Amino acid sequence: MPGQFIADRIRDIQQSEIRNMTRECARLEAINLGQGLGDLPTPPLVADGAIQAIRDRHSTYSFPEGSTRLRNAIAAKLKRDNGIDADPEGQIVVTVGSTGAFALACMALLNPGDGILLPEPYYGYHLNQAKLAGLRPQFLPLAPPSFALVERELRAAITPETRALMLCTPSNPSGKLITREELEMVDRVAREHDLLVITDEIYEYIVYDGRKHISPATVGSLGERTVSIMGFSKTFSITGWRMGYAVAPREIAHAMNMANDLFYVCAATPLQHGVANGLEAPPEFYRDLAADYQRKRDTICAALNDAGLTPIVPQGAYYVLADVSHLGFETSKQAAMALLEETRVASIPGSAFYQSAAGEGLLRFCFAKSDEELGEAARRIRTFRAATASH
Ligand code: GLN
Repeated sequence: MPGQFIADRIRDIQQSEIRNMTRECARLEAINLGQGLGDLPTPPLVADGAIQAIRDRHSTYSFPEGSTRLRNAIAAKLKRDNGIDADPEGQIVVTVGSTGAFALACMALLNPGDGILLPEPYYGYHLNQAKLAGLRPQFLPLAPPSFALVERELRAAITPETRALMLCTPSNPSGKLITREELEMVDRVAREHDLLVITDEIYEYIVYDGRKHISPATVGSLGERTVSIMGFSKTFSITGWRMGYAVAPREIAHAMNMANDLFYVCAATPLQHGVANGLEAPPEFYRDLAADYQRKRDTICAALNDAGLTPIVPQGAYYVLADVSHLGFETSKQAAMALLEETRVASIPGSAFYQSAAGEGLLRFCFAKSDEELGEAARRIRTFRAATASH
């Protein structure tokens, strides 16, 4: 292998266990509760919008920041659902997935060597993207089951290098919703240390038990220093379309859009039409979405409980962390592989979300599955305890 041609910035980055488990899952023809594929049907409104746009030959570049129609629709949605006032001309950038938006934030707003603080458990792509951009990842361990953000701990995690704080709410993988009190505390601390705040709110509509998602940018003065990242993948079950967006103060959005233009020119134009259509969905659409996922959450949590894999019941998003520490596996990868091999259900080892050893006792299960497939997975999970006990 001509290793001399591999750049330092990517040399030490390991491919995510999320990817690896999908490969293992395919090999064993198992049910994939690992990667958050979100393979539920796409609403016809969204699919038809994109198909029609292709037929109508909306096939050339949009503005780098996205089509005017889509940005106007996003601005209306931000006002209606998030309480964010954003000028569609200058504060919104349509991106290649929310992953693309985070890449732009790292490249356009931070310098190599800058510290970025990630609450732990974190989404591995935030960590690896930060590394790829030459940033210095820093960690703020949050304790289960509440995963609370504690002022004293946040202050202790901040060093002179820290320039940015990542907030993923609802969280992948923990399902935690950051509370208003926590955000008020973050506002104080971020102001004091002049930190950039980058959010990931991709699961904003997937919230349970009547809880409400709060966009960090709406709390105190956080709007002045926050890049809010959102997207359509989870809401419309179009994870493969790669459609996301960022909202930020004008100068920040401008810098991100420069990077967006240079990397991608623009997000796929016909798909922008599809999601613009989707934003016309009535409020019931969002209520049904949350209710459907809550039912699925309850299905998987019941099965995990029955199998003795105690779930940390999520408040939002479509993942659940389950405690497997008592099963006696040395690593969470071993636990995930044993579950996969014995029951043909794939999960993600907790170590994918932790720097520390705390992840070794956890598995993450994704429940964005059809009721049939999830029901079958639940049935198989229930058999797991017996299987391991007999070893
Ligand atoms: N966000 C999804 C997950 O956490 C998909 C990740 C991915 O494929 N990069 O599983």
